[in-house]
Amino acid sequence: MPAKIAIDWLNACAGCEISIIDMGPRLLTVLDLVEFVHLPALMDHKYFNQMGDGKHLEMPEAAVGIITGSIRNEEHLEVALEMRKKCGAIIAMGTCATHGGIPALCNTFTTEQILEHYYSTETTDPHDERPSDGLPGLLDACYAVDEKIDVDILLPGCPPHSDQVFETLVAFLEGRPAVLRDKSVCDTCPTTREGKGKVKKLRRYLQAPEYENVNDGIDKMRCILEQGLLCMGPVTKAGCCGNEGDPRCISARVPCRGCYGPVEKDGNQRLDMLNALVSNGIDIASLPESSSMLRFTGAHGMLRPGGGRL
Ligand code: SF4
Ligand code: SF4
Ligand code: SF4
Repeated sequence: MPAKIAIDWLNACAGCEISIIDMGPRLLTVLDLVEFVHLPALMDHKYFNQMGDGKHLEMPEAAVGIITGSIRNEEHLEVALEMRKKCGAIIAMGTCATHGGIPALCNTFTTEQILEHYYSTETTDPHDERPSDGLPGLLDACYAVDEKIDVDILLPGCPPHSDQVFETLVAFLEGRPAVLRDKSVCDTCPTTREGKGKVKKLRRYLQAPEYENVNDGIDKMRCILEQGLLCMGPVTKAGCCGNEGDPRCISARVPCRGCYGPVEKDGNQRLDMLNALVSNGIDIASLPESSSMLRFTGAHGMLRPGGGRL
């Protein structure tokens, strides 16, 4: 009998759902093994009965629940709690779900500061009334899923590569641990490294790395960090290229921004990156700021109103 799967998106952009669909023909393999019982991106299934006459938010029972997105408002929290209750296992999928993701950048401000700024800023499209009727209230911050409910499997990535989505799902259904890359982006990067200590200061973020010939592979390009551009590869989990191939951003000759989150689940990308810069002999006073090193991982108290934790 196929395993029942429920998938829901909370504070999310739908990119993770695209990654599921991006499994392509392998989706047919998955469809032989599972039955989707709730998937708002693809099927019409309502929380309060199909006629909207239910009194409580209800989800169908499932062997596994996949949650994408972080938890920012009361509705996200209610859905997450209901999925925890109805699903045998929970997979937090995507860096929003595992570490807060881009939405958790809001944690550098209080919710009141954000609302005050939004509803008091003078624009040509004034919106000075704070809406309230029928809207779920905002929580005090943006949370990763495991800060609010127990999570069984974490699959970071913004979005996770479809190879990793497939492997995680199939491994779960086969009752074995998923075989995924678990080192850093640097460990999967073929750029040329000449050694530490040659660059003393970081260059501006928007400058492009240098390379000899556009037709050469990135194995002929010097490491972007060694060129003095902030590349988060040393402190970011590998996997954006699936289980083989080169890191995506580096292949496009731009620095890694850290979207897969820390190498170890509880790592602090900002602290780890500052350490990496110092150990490379780079003066961290040349950094204009460091909060953006947590641009994908601001939940778990990493970013806090007023600047965040070091
Ligand atoms: S992890 Fe990235 S792709 Fe997935 S919901 Fe968040 S922002 Fe979108
Ligand atoms: S710092 Fe960036 S460019 Fe250098 S090896 Fe690591 S991922 Fe590649
Ligand atoms: S290189 Fe870094 S930022 Fe780019 S996709 Fe990979 S993990 Fe994400």
